[in-house]
Amino acid sequence: MTSTVLGYPRIGAQRELKRATEAYWAGRISETELLRTAGTLRREVWDTLRDAGVDLVPSNTFSLYDQVLDTTVMVDAVPARFRGLRGLDAYFAMARGAEGVPPLEMTKWFDTNYHYLVPEIGPRTRFRLADGARAKPILEYLEARELGIETRPVLVGPLTYLLLAKPEPGTATDPLDLLDPLVEVYAELLERLAGAGAQWVQLDEPALAADRSERELTALGRAYHRLGGLPSRPKILVATYFGEIGRALPVLAATRVEAIGLDFVAGPGNLQAVASIGGLPRRTVVAGVVDGRNVWRTDLSAALSTCAALLGLAGEVVASTSCSLMHVPLDLDAETGLDDGLRRRLAFARQKADEVVAIGRALTRGSEAIAARAAEDGPAAAPRADYRVRARLDALGDGTVRPDRAVRFAAQRRSLNLPPLATTTIGSFPQTERVRRARADHRAGRIDDAAYEQIMRAEIDKVIDLQERIGLDVLVHGEPERNDMVQYFAERLDGFAATRNGWVQSYGTRYVRPPILHGDVTRPGPMTVRWTTYAQSRTRKPVKGMLTGPVTMLAWSFVREDQPLAATARQVALALRDEIRDLEAAGIGVIQVDEPALRELLPLRRADRAAYLDWAVGAFRLATGGVADTTQIHTHMCYAEFGEVLGAIEALDADVTSVEAARSHMELVADLRDAGYAGGIGPGVYDIHSPRVPPVEEIEDLVRRALRVVPPGRLWVNPDCGLKTRGYAETEAALRTMVDAAHRVRASL
Ligand code: GLN
Ligand code: ZN
Repeated sequence: MTSTVLGYPRIGAQRELKRATEAYWAGRISETELLRTAGTLRREVWDTLRDAGVDLVPSNTFSLYDQVLDTTVMVDAVPARFRGLRGLDAYFAMARGAEGVPPLEMTKWFDTNYHYLVPEIGPRTRFRLADGARAKPILEYLEARELGIETRPVLVGPLTYLLLAKPEPGTATDPLDLLDPLVEVYAELLERLAGAGAQWVQLDEPALAADRSERELTALGRAYHRLGGLPSRPKILVATYFGEIGRALPVLAATRVEAIGLDFVAGPGNLQAVASIGGLPRRTVVAGVVDGRNVWRTDLSAALSTCAALLGLAGEVVASTSCSLMHVPLDLDAETGLDDGLRRRLAFARQKADEVVAIGRALTRGSEAIAARAAEDGPAAAPRADYRVRARLDALGDGTVRPDRAVRFAAQRRSLNLPPLATTTIGSFPQTERVRRARADHRAGRIDDAAYEQIMRAEIDKVIDLQERIGLDVLVHGEPERNDMVQYFAERLDGFAATRNGWVQSYGTRYVRPPILHGDVTRPGPMTVRWTTYAQSRTRKPVKGMLTGPVTMLAWSFVREDQPLAATARQVALALRDEIRDLEAAGIGVIQVDEPALRELLPLRRADRAAYLDWAVGAFRLATGGVADTTQIHTHMCYAEFGEVLGAIEALDADVTSVEAARSHMELVADLRDAGYAGGIGPGVYDIHSPRVPPVEEIEDLVRRALRVVPPGRLWVNPDCGLKTRGYAETEAALRTMVDAAHRVRASL
């Protein structure tokens, strides 16, 4: 084996998986048809990888929804509430819920934008290989072999599986306590795979890229001693990725696993880690030198020299991707609209497969082919540079420091004159069919600018009128012109490119097309001012301007690698700073900069977090620090667990912060206070993820709880997040109830 990939996109070139799955849900196609499409997609991946020359092609990287969910089904950890359902019905019910049965919780896969379904492990969990000889990895292995392709089945490793699980609600089970019985299921599976003829198996343990306790490392050692000691099994590759392996390396090296996968892109220190334990002379190192998470062409000579350095340290070296390629779009050849200079800098999954093959061949046969490719390509085009932006950033330094909160608070009380418990929303209003169609028609040239403008203005009129009638205090324009909070801005900034077909799975049938941030970022002109000022012209109440923050812009894009992320963030921040200045000059006195991804980019290892938060906070302050004291800066974040970023929220120095809180009973308000946060706070008082309209008493109770911790002048009343996925009927009812609750509490102050 000289080259491999750890995984590959499974959604199909034309998003076939999404189409088929949704058609199946809608009853338009049968289960047989869905499974036939799935089989075709698997075959396409295997054929592609084999034809590219990849030595050992992975299998079981396909999933109808999510690989963690597949594992849950495989080891029979299906929670009791789904047991009445069968087969695919049970499977999709766990993903999406069914009549009266809530789905499994969904959360982010490490620091990526992929989301998995969280296993629930409880006292009643009894692991077993549910389908025995017909377990999914075995069937897919046999399916590929039938097609003449020998594959390496890929499994979520047992330690990572349990570390990603949560205790079944209402129980105190620690999932890790169930490691031994789970490992027995893997043992049975490995024996059966060997019986089916599998030469290799890949166990993914990305959990090792985060800090792990002594107990967890001991568990790791126990699991792989057991699996490594099986008399009959395929060779084992333990794949780690998303960072450095750290203290897990000696633990794995002490077991009998044949190969260890190391990520040399996110974890450059891995080379030193291998050297420091005296190398791995009798093992194979699967060297993740081709980035599985970004879209740039690999510097093949640099990748080759990493592999060459490893040759002296390991028994064998295999060129590979840093992680599964499922995090990048499928094929650059499907992108027709890209600028040629940019295109020559890019590689998507299909091209990255060629890269690992080239590196693998160079390792065994010499580097001529790589040199030839470099000569053929010529020098790569340099990223777009804008010296004015660089000079302005140098001159600005950290930007202006705003005066103390107390000073601003007083200035804003005079300029805005808001009541205590001011009511507002997070920005978007329901996106109607009419709005979506208008955007699509405008984009396709079926309606002209004037017609588009008219439809959007009518929508803004409607949203402003609704908010007036409901009696909200700070209004929004509703964001009808935005398809997506990152893409909208990326399309209006130089230095970003959009793809036509660059889909990446975010979860299940939801795919996203992250913009590509490829050069210095500049703002050719105002991006939001037109809509916000139009909305403001329709009301005497303040209208809140609405922008996406620098960290979120980076988190949901592919970012350049030729300069530190911090430098890129400052460029985006400068563009936002200019936008904010324009909004302010146009008379907008309240401006919200959303940072829902602040926590998402938090490094997996604690030691790296302070440096990240430092630049993330710096970028936000650079964006927002140029305003008058009378201008009120809001920010918004939406996730349940703030933990490590509480201190950073204070450091952002916004005047008002709105956060998701309804489902956690406002606990966050006290947490923020304890972390020293002294600004205005808008803990979401109802959950916008469900159409449920809460009774007024429920919201009133939440507001009163929050009032135990913050004074009324600093407490805001708002929903948990934007309303764009909701319908108008429930939105109006919920907002009326919310305002009613705020008024009741206000009256009793
Ligand atoms: N302003 C955005 C909206 O209301 C915020 C979305 C988000 O936090 N994810 O849709
Ligand atoms: Zn939100």
